[in-house]
Amino acid sequence: MSDQDETEIIRLSNLINGELQPANCGDWIDDFAPATGHLIARIPCSDSSDVDQAVAAAKQALPAWAALDINERADYLDRIGDALEERAEEIAALESLDSGKPISLAREVDAKRSVANFRFFSKIAREFESETFEMSDALNHVVYKPVGVAGLITPWNLPLYLLSWKVAPALVMGNTVVAKPSELTPLTASLLADITQLSDLPKGVFNLVHGTGTHAGAALVAHPDVDLISFTGGTQTGATVAASAAPSFKKLSLELGGKNSSIVFGDSDADKAIPGVLRAAFLNQGQVCLCGSRILVERSIYPEFREEFLQAVQEMVIGDPFDGETELGALISPEHLNKVSSYIELAGLEGGTILCGGEAPGDIPEQFVGGNWLMPTVIEGVSYDSRTATEEIFGPVVTLHPFDDEDEAVKMANSTEYGLAGSVWTEDLAKGERVAAAIDTGMVWVNCWLHRDLRVPFGGVKQSGVGTEGGRWSLDFYSEPMNICVKHD
Ligand code: NDP
Repeated sequence: MSDQDETEIIRLSNLINGELQPANCGDWIDDFAPATGHLIARIPCSDSSDVDQAVAAAKQALPAWAALDINERADYLDRIGDALEERAEEIAALESLDSGKPISLAREVDAKRSVANFRFFSKIAREFESETFEMSDALNHVVYKPVGVAGLITPWNLPLYLLSWKVAPALVMGNTVVAKPSELTPLTASLLADITQLSDLPKGVFNLVHGTGTHAGAALVAHPDVDLISFTGGTQTGATVAASAAPSFKKLSLELGGKNSSIVFGDSDADKAIPGVLRAAFLNQGQVCLCGSRILVERSIYPEFREEFLQAVQEMVIGDPFDGETELGALISPEHLNKVSSYIELAGLEGGTILCGGEAPGDIPEQFVGGNWLMPTVIEGVSYDSRTATEEIFGPVVTLHPFDDEDEAVKMANSTEYGLAGSVWTEDLAKGERVAAAIDTGMVWVNCWLHRDLRVPFGGVKQSGVGTEGGRWSLDFYSEPMNICVKHD
């Protein structure tokens, strides 16, 4: 990258106690654009000393922030939501640049949802009613107190979307925050930090520490003054986080990996199922924890489904993330591309046939040659319980599997260690509900996918996570219920 103009490279800062500052050690981490491989930013390579400062600031700001009325805290959320909305196009552009995703997706999903998260949690916090339990001689009432200093750790696939999903409920319930975004996609976290300052959020209430997971992230999880950790990321990292948080009994939420099935029955409507399963397979280059990467198809329609699905996959537009027509962008990093590609090789060893994709597009324009590109890939012929079909690949790679009946579909869907999501495609809605209920996951969509109502619970089972967030469940997670029993005469 030596030929790059240093003045074009963004320098990000930590935000600690209302001050923008570099890492104490003075070191920096390079941030590259996935589509081109170009250096776009340098971020502070923070370590435990920066985390210590951020946690101290959050702890100091806690009493005054917690003492505010919940409606006053909700007012701050509204201000942040408004400011994010004003900068929605900037958010979309930064997210597309930093993660390689299509700008259309960044506009429709990342930017809009970040605004919606702040507005939604403001609204439900204002409507929040605590319980009372009457006895013949006493009244119990439940008081929801903040947990304390919240450590929020987020991945690279939906950077601001997932950060705002944690920050908004944490703040509105009276906690103060130290956030550690992925080092691979730091840009919009810094934009949020900027917005919190412009929204006059009291200093120390929101702190941002950039850096690697193994240094800044691990220091945050282990910190004795951090009371709560909300972590979204891979299952293996989640296990490390859980082990580190457990000895100090931190409140913990882990949103982890997934290997989700899209189950297509013979009585499904192909006009809904083909585009729905396609979207579930390849949104964000398959880098969404909810993506349906194992496609189970009833044998009676397998040949037609396969043909129509393959045609739809091959028609997807892959290329320049900033082109509004683009449907598939680049993968997040060369390391991730290698990991995803290794599963394509593995599929071959496991008896699979690559029906389409499997390699970079042949006609990459000059400016994208250094990027992390992979065509959408469909594999047939691996067993439903093979490693390819059960381990999280987290890329544009799906496997097709025929099944004979409902029981077999459920058995196949439940044959992974993960339990995050799934979708069922059938015109028989009773069957759809029956099959959905039989799948061991946190959520299932029938005849749709990623159709989100922010009020509903969100979380995984098995290796996909511990704890539930979303709607009222987030308000519960980011608070401690305390019962006060008042005896009367
Ligand atoms: P990682 O687990 O690698 O990282 C997630 C975050 O944790 C990053 O900020 C990372 O920092 C940080 N981290 C890494 N090691 C540690 C550590 N020892 N202690 C504390 N923090 C640490 O996940 P990815 O970023 O690769 O994200 C992809 C994964 O996230 C997939 O498995 C996907 O399924 C999952 N995911 C789950 C979702 C859900 O809701 N269930 C939603 C979205 C994604 P850094 O990257 O800077 O090293």
